[in-house]
Amino acid sequence: MSRAGSRNGRPAWPAGSPPARSASSRTAGTSLCPAWARSAPNEPTSKLLARVQAGTARILSATVRHERGRWFVSLQVETAREITRVTRPDSAVGIDLGVKHLAVLADSSGEIRYEPNPKHLDGALKLLRFHDRRTGQKPSKRWEKANAERNRIHHRVANLRTDALHKLTTRVRAEYGTVVVEDLNVAGMLRNKRLARRVADAGFGEIRRQLTYKGRRNACRTIVANRWYPSSKTCSNCGATKAKLPLHVRVFDCDECPLVMDRDENAARNLVALAAACTTGTGVAGDQGGASLPHQRQTETRDRPQAEALTFW
Ligand SMILES: [Zn+2]
Repeated sequence: MSRAGSRNGRPAWPAGSPPARSASSRTAGTSLCPAWARSAPNEPTSKLLARVQAGTARILSATVRHERGRWFVSLQVETAREITRVTRPDSAVGIDLGVKHLAVLADSSGEIRYEPNPKHLDGALKLLRFHDRRTGQKPSKRWEKANAERNRIHHRVANLRTDALHKLTTRVRAEYGTVVVEDLNVAGMLRNKRLARRVADAGFGEIRRQLTYKGRRNACRTIVANRWYPSSKTCSNCGATKAKLPLHVRVFDCDECPLVMDRDENAARNLVALAAACTTGTGVAGDQGGASLPHQRQTETRDRPQAEALTFW
């Protein structure tokens, strides 16, 4: 558990040890905390304070960092946490992280939900371009003012995105006992310029990280599908696999059966089916427990022939 609180004005840093100017952080022991406790963080810390006073929580360290013109402090806290029971422990959900939508959720009862993309960056980018015009010029009063505004927009975008991701992952983990996600090759997708910004904006890696740790907190299962599992190219109805399905093709049209379905929905259905395969032991379906793949597999190229890729299963 950690809380980051931002504050305006001068940081309450002990005299004689000024923190670095740029994005940087510094971790110290608990001796720092009294100074920060007096400086009224913007985010509520009253619950934490109550726990510390009751002796049910212990602050291990405080990390202070300076980011985009603001000061943050993160507290690392040791505390006992009760396992929260999920509302549908026997249900599973497959999550396909997309480009068109932030995520498509298919659960084991057949229900489909679309999570819209947080496109906050799109609107803010226009503003940012305006405020970026003076970059590279000699700093002036006006430049400093513009730069402060730019920092403010960057912060707003980051905060809105973080908020959307946390809400989604908390909601999913409060409901389902098993969550199946893809092990997306985010680095590979970032090399694709057209997709790059949208992918970075959607925060794929962050979603998976949050789902995994929030699942562990509730003693629930996270299944990470093998990177080479063709969730998009496989028919969720008959299991036939297409050799190719380019990203711009948004509808899955099966060659073997009458199924015609939104590409992401089809993928999400395949993912949730992996949960059943894992549970009944009828197939080797994925890496369980949210464990990441061995390093060597992460460095494989994406153009592996599919037949060979399937041998991982
Ligand atoms: Zn089919």
